[in-house]
Amino acid sequence: MADIIQLLPDHVANQIAAGEVVQRPASVVKELLENAIDAGATTIKLIIKDAGKTLIQVIDDGKGMSVTDARLCFERHATSKIKSADDLFQLNTKGFRGEALASIAAIAHIELKTKQAGDDVGTAIVIEGGSVTSQEVVVTPQGTSVSVKNLFFNIPARRNFLKSNAVELRHIIDEFHRVALVHSDINFVLYNNGSETFNLPVSNYRQRIVNIFGTKTNEKLVPVDEDTEVLKISGFVGKPEFAKKTRGEQYFFVNNRFIKSAYLNHAIASAFDGLLKSGTHASYFLYLTVDPQTIDINIHPTKTEIKFDDEHTLYALLRSAVKHSLGQFNIAPVLDFERDASLDTPYNFERKQTNSPTIEVDRSFNPFVADDRPVKAPSPVSTSPSKSYSYKKESTSNWESLYVGLESKSNNESQEFSEVHFESDQTTASIFNDEKEVEQTHTTYQLHNKYIVSTIKSGMLLIDQHRAHQRILYEDFLKNMTIKEAISQQLLFPLELHFSVKEIEILKQLKEDLEHTGFVFSSVLNESVEITGVPVSVPESEVSIILEQLISDVENEVPDAHFSATDLLAKSMAKSLAIKTGQSLKKDEQEHLVNKLFACKEPNVTPTNKTTFITMSVDELDKKFI
Ligand code: ADP
Ligand code: MG
Repeated sequence: MADIIQLLPDHVANQIAAGEVVQRPASVVKELLENAIDAGATTIKLIIKDAGKTLIQVIDDGKGMSVTDARLCFERHATSKIKSADDLFQLNTKGFRGEALASIAAIAHIELKTKQAGDDVGTAIVIEGGSVTSQEVVVTPQGTSVSVKNLFFNIPARRNFLKSNAVELRHIIDEFHRVALVHSDINFVLYNNGSETFNLPVSNYRQRIVNIFGTKTNEKLVPVDEDTEVLKISGFVGKPEFAKKTRGEQYFFVNNRFIKSAYLNHAIASAFDGLLKSGTHASYFLYLTVDPQTIDINIHPTKTEIKFDDEHTLYALLRSAVKHSLGQFNIAPVLDFERDASLDTPYNFERKQTNSPTIEVDRSFNPFVADDRPVKAPSPVSTSPSKSYSYKKESTSNWESLYVGLESKSNNESQEFSEVHFESDQTTASIFNDEKEVEQTHTTYQLHNKYIVSTIKSGMLLIDQHRAHQRILYEDFLKNMTIKEAISQQLLFPLELHFSVKEIEILKQLKEDLEHTGFVFSSVLNESVEITGVPVSVPESEVSIILEQLISDVENEVPDAHFSATDLLAKSMAKSLAIKTGQSLKKDEQEHLVNKLFACKEPNVTPTNKTTFITMSVDELDKKFI
C-alpha cells in the first residue's frame, strides 16, 4: 500500500496551534500586551472595537523590530527570547514559545508597524490568513503597533462561538487587569470603542490596584511582606469586612506572571479561617518571587498554570505570611473573655430614633387615571414602607412575557392568596385533589427554622423555606420586570455605592432591568452610583449586598445560550432576598409562604432547579411503622 503520512502545510499547522493559543479576543490581548512588555515598553496602549471582534490594537514604545525580524516574527517557533532548552529554566520574559504571532496571523488580518531606535524609517507589513499581502517602508514612531482585525474570519464556527460583546469585553478587561496589576512601572491606556476606559499612570503596586479597582479600595488593603530563602511575598490582602461574594479580586503573580492555583488559593482561605462571613471571599493581590529554576511554567499553552517544585512549603509560607499580616494590623479578633455580649447595644439600635406614627397614604393613587395601578411588589415577609411611589414604562413583549398575564393589573393580597390554581401543574394537582383543602389546612409548623411542615389530604408536605421563597420572589420579579411596573421606595437620603470600573460596566448593562424592579439611579459615574429609590421589598441595608451578588452572578454566568439579563437579575435578587434558613417565621408568615408558593407557575423547584418541597403520603408513613 502507498504511504499515507504527510507533513501538514504550515498554514494548517498554524491554524491548529491557534486553537490552543487563541480561544477568544482576550487571548490575543494577552499575547500582544506581553510582547509589548517583553520589548521594554514604558507606555502601552490597547485599542478595542466591538469587544475585539472588529479590532484589537496594541501600540508600544518598546525596542521595535528590524525589517527581517518584522517578517520573521510571524513564523512558527520564531522567538528572540530563548536560544536553547536550558533557557526555559531561566525565563525572564513572558513569551518564549514563538507561536503567538504565527497563530494569530493564521486566523485574522494583521497590520504590523515597527521601528527600532536609531532607524529613520520603519516597516509595515499586512498579513491575511497567514500570507503576507504587502510590505512597505513607513514613517512611524519608535516601537511597535500590531492591529488584529476580523478575528476568526476563516473559522466561522469559532466566530459564532464567541459570546456577546459584553462578555467578551469583560474577558478582555480581566486580561488587561492581570497584566497591568503586575507592571505598575508601565503606563497602560485602554480605549474601548473610542473612549478612554483606563489610563493607569506609572506608580507603585498599591496605587495601581487603587487606580484599577477604585479609590475606596485603598482603605481595604492590608500589606503582606515576607522574605524567605525560598520565596519572597509582597502585596496585599483585603480586610475581611470587605470580603466579596465574588472571587473576582483574587490575584496571584509568580515572577511577574499571573497564575491560577487552587492550591495556593486554599492557603489564603485558610489564613482567613473564621474571619469571613460564609459565602464571601477575601480579595488578594499577591506577588510571589521564586527562583525560576524551581518552577515550570511550560505546562499550559496560555501559561496560567504553573508547577512548583515544593508546593507544600509555599503553601505553609503563604498561609503564615497572610496570617501574620492580618494579626499585625489588628484584623484578627482579639480574645476577650470578660465581656458579656448581652450588654452590647446592637449597632443598628445605637443610632435609632423613636419613630413617630405614620399615616399610610396611597401616593400612587391618581383620580385621573383609570384603574391601572402597578402590581404589588413582592414582599411576603417584609414590612410595608411608609413612602412609596410608582413608575411605569411602556411594555415591550419578549419571551419573559410568558410570566405576565394572570395578574398584570392591580391585585390585592387577599385575591392573590385565594386564587390558587394548580391545574397547570400535574405534580401539584395530584397532591392537592381539592383546591378548597389548601385553604382549610391552616396547620403549619416550622421545623428547625428551616422547613415548614403542613398537612395535605394524602399525607404531609415539607417545604424548604429558603428555596420556596426564592421561587416566589423570582416569579414576582420576573413579572414586574416584564410588564415594567414596579413600586419603588424613595430613600430619604440618596445612597452612594462604590464599585470598580468593571463592575460599573456590568451595572450599566443591567440598569434598565434594575429600574423595572424599582431601583432608581440618580447618577452612574465612573466608580460610583447614586441610588434614590429601591424596590419596596428591598431593605436599604441590603442594597449593596444585592448589587454585589448580582455583579458576581453576572461575572460567573455559566455559558448558557439562553442567557437573559432579566432572568439572571430575577434569579440573583431572589437568591439575595429570600428568607434565610435559620429565620423563625410566625404562623401567618408560614401560611403566607405556603400559599404564595403554590400560586407560582412552577412551585416544585427553585429558579436554579432545586427541589422546593417534598411530600410523604400516609401510606409511606405507615410503612415506616411496620
Ligand atoms: P514569543 O513572544 O513567544 O517569542 P511571539 O510570536 O509572541 O513569540 O513573538 C515572536 C517574536 O516577535 C518575539 O520573540 C519578539 O522578538 C518579536 N516581537 C513580537 N512583538 C514584539 C513587539 N511588540 N516589539 C518588539 N518585538 C516583538
Ligand atoms: Mg509573545
